[in-house]
Amino acid sequence: MTWWHSATLTTKIVYAMLAGLVVGLAINLTYGVNGMVQPGVSGFSDFMVYGVFHTFGKMFVSALKMLVVPLVTFSLICGVLGIGDIRVLGRVGGKSVFFYLLTTAIAIATAIIIASVLNIGAGFEQGSVAVKEVTAKDAPSLADVLINIVPTNPIQAMANGSMLPIIFFAVLVGISMLMMGKEGKGLQDFAMKMNDLMMNMVKIVMSFAPYGVFFLIAKTFAENGPAMFMPLIGYVIALLGSLAFHCFVTLMLLLKLFSGLSPMTFLRKIRPAQTFAFSTASSNATIPATLSAVTNRVGVHPSVGSFTVPFGATINMDGTAIMQGVATVFIANVYGVELGVGGYLTVILMAVLASIGTAGVPGVGMVMLTMVLTQVGLPVEAVGMLLGVDRLMDMCRTAVNVTGDAVVSSIVAKGEGKLDMDIFNNPDAGIIMDSDLPHVDDEGHFVS
Ligand code: ASP
Repeated sequence: MTWWHSATLTTKIVYAMLAGLVVGLAINLTYGVNGMVQPGVSGFSDFMVYGVFHTFGKMFVSALKMLVVPLVTFSLICGVLGIGDIRVLGRVGGKSVFFYLLTTAIAIATAIIIASVLNIGAGFEQGSVAVKEVTAKDAPSLADVLINIVPTNPIQAMANGSMLPIIFFAVLVGISMLMMGKEGKGLQDFAMKMNDLMMNMVKIVMSFAPYGVFFLIAKTFAENGPAMFMPLIGYVIALLGSLAFHCFVTLMLLLKLFSGLSPMTFLRKIRPAQTFAFSTASSNATIPATLSAVTNRVGVHPSVGSFTVPFGATINMDGTAIMQGVATVFIANVYGVELGVGGYLTVILMAVLASIGTAGVPGVGMVMLTMVLTQVGLPVEAVGMLLGVDRLMDMCRTAVNVTGDAVVSSIVAKGEGKLDMDIFNNPDAGIIMDSDLPHVDDEGHFVS
């Protein structure tokens, strides 16, 4: 097993994903009914899928989520201390909002165009898929979105993992520490030590990533087999095509245009974050991996990354917007409704607004879709047709969401002179090897 120990963490995660895919599909093809494996199908699949894979996969995701709130809080406080200038802070915030909204709007417009050109959903047999029940959710007003940015109780915001109020509070704490000058030195040192502590916890959890990823992927592919996708193949192809176009063409063009960075090198460096996003289907749970890839591998200064990454995980959802665009065209065609340019503009606006206050957690995109459909008068129950294939689509769109976060972080950092080109150009920078991971020395002490 020396090759396993000498492989980088990213390589191990990729092997783990492939192994999970093979094992999961084998179970699905053996025990699946109409491409689905559910509890009770067989003793073996119950034990493997809902026992082993479910338990260990969930434990890994919980460990990632456990890191998010303290990591974001302390890295953001340190980020503000690192920037040190309120005007620069405002500029970084303004640019991030601009690019996040811009990429989301481009994403959904692209999706609508691609889905319309392919004319997906026309002639679709409604009885060909199992429909699950959904309840519509009302769109929050812009006023509510803005009010919710300010926490009434920061502890509650942390307990709920609400990212925007946590960001707001942490930025204020950082600014106040700076205002204390010398008096605040002790607090600043404490925040920096806590940040180092969290980084070490990230390393510990990351060292379990290949196993966690294996269990997550194996469970998903065991439950959802290829047969499930057949009736919705048009929707799936248009969605995957639009996601790939946005990820590899649009975002890379924007990266090249606004930062001059090489897209190839960039994509290689953020692969761990993309694989985490794909495995967990949660931008929030991926924050530790995105932050680590963007700062240690791409070279974004932590003072910028600590702000743009958690901010992006919440307000930037390019992949989710793409799903909403494709799904709206599909549903409109299935029901024979002509939305027209006005209707599609409403969809774009709604999807961008809906993405702002919504946390990056699994399945939330479908909830947002119900809001969008209500606005243009399409039947919300139609979402039920798409739910069967949603887990895998969620994994793919979350990888695109996280890519968007990393691209905007890099563009903003480059524009601020806060991107270290030595790190970016060094292929080995920030690569995690076994020797970097926590281990016990001859005397039984933990070292890293
Ligand atoms: N799972 C996505 C994310 O975390 C959101 C969604 O589209 O459901 O970014």
